[in-house]
Amino acid sequence: MPLTTPTEDAFAKRLLHWFDQHGRKDLPWQHDTTAYRVWLSEIMLQQTQVSTVIPYYQRMTNAYPNVQALAAAPLDEVLHHWTGLGYYARARNLHKTAQTISTEHDGIFPDSVEQLQALPGIGRSTAGAICAIAHHRHCAILDGNVKRVLARHSAIAGWPGKTAVAKQLWDIAESHTPAQRTGDYTQAIMDLGATVCTRSKPACTQCPVSTDCQAFIREETQHYPGKKAPKAIPVRQTLLLIIRNQHNKVLLQQRPPSGIWGGLWSFPECPDETELSNSCERVGVKIHSYQLTDTLRHTFSHFHLDYTPVHIRTHGPATRVADSSQRWVNPAAHGEIGLPAPILALLKALRSF
Ligand code: SF4
Repeated sequence: MPLTTPTEDAFAKRLLHWFDQHGRKDLPWQHDTTAYRVWLSEIMLQQTQVSTVIPYYQRMTNAYPNVQALAAAPLDEVLHHWTGLGYYARARNLHKTAQTISTEHDGIFPDSVEQLQALPGIGRSTAGAICAIAHHRHCAILDGNVKRVLARHSAIAGWPGKTAVAKQLWDIAESHTPAQRTGDYTQAIMDLGATVCTRSKPACTQCPVSTDCQAFIREETQHYPGKKAPKAIPVRQTLLLIIRNQHNKVLLQQRPPSGIWGGLWSFPECPDETELSNSCERVGVKIHSYQLTDTLRHTFSHFHLDYTPVHIRTHGPATRVADSSQRWVNPAAHGEIGLPAPILALLKALRSF
């Protein structure tokens, strides 16, 4: 559906008025709104709260002030800066997109939603945000916060992950987006969702669009947006082999580029205790003794990973590696490599082990 020109849309007017008075305008990505900086913030803010993102965003923009700098950086270093933020496919796609923009677009971000959407990791909403905020184009967005505001305001039932529900919400998003001050409106509606129309206990009495908010009027804010039908999350189990050599270094392996923790460094794994010797031999190590410790859980979006660290002492000296995907590291000085949060926590614990 093409965007209408609702410059007089009461919803947008009230929202912009609220934003001028109460909206946040000092977030690091709200200054110097280049397409690069807006894109970076949008990717980092997916599934992650503003307060968590801020220090990561500052580190990334200090290390890579523009798209060319990001494109030229080694992926390992980018993943290192991302360590702890989770959803690492975002960082890999970020790097890939930076390289595509540098080589195929002369370092300039396209200014159409369609061209932006063709790049890795950029969906329709992120493309809309870049176009609206950085390129001052008349484009709508529909991120998680905006879905919540609009689903409540218009009482749209159903889970927004369903195509039909998403279509309804996109139509509403487009009908409210003003042709003037589109960038401010975009920041305003994201801000309203993040600070007023929050997931639980929305502050409706402070909301600029409460007078015609259907969910508020019906006292049913908790029903919107609809939830996904619950599904049991499967559990996977693995042993993490913490192999320590005579120099107190531990063996790390780089994971394959795609999949869980893709491209990050982790301990070698083993399916169960009976396979310990074989798994160690595969990485060129003979076991002298080992000790299993408590099983821990890390939850991904679609499964739980129960991992049991196994501390292994090697038989004889062990310093060799099979190839560049393995390295012996000092737990206290592992260098600039990308590490999943649970592995980083284990390395930290090892320093006092
Ligand atoms: S009135 Fe309440 S539920 Fe409705 S949009 Fe505002 S904060 Fe959200």
